[in-house]
Amino acid sequence: MNRKTRRKLENQMGKDASENLAEKIFQFNKLSEQCRACQKGFDKKDKDMVQSWNVVVKQETVRIFCPECIKKTQEIINEHR
Ligand SMILES: [Zn+2]
Repeated sequence: MNRKTRRKLENQMGKDASENLAEKIFQFNKLSEQCRACQKGFDKKDKDMVQSWNVVVKQETVRIFCPECIKKTQEIINEHR
């Protein structure tokens, strides 16, 4: 395998990994399918939800937050500025 081919392969693998990351997280952490702050249910099959919800991965802990809670958190941060 020459260098160019290997780089191309690595790029493809990296792209797939990031695209499937959220899906994998929810497969392995079925208990986390709700907002960490308000316990609102999260539907991983809903593409709008997947795009608007915030997934925070820290080590092996996964936290997800609904758009309302993200907004509230940002408002609190802005108030304290
Ligand atoms: Zn929430």
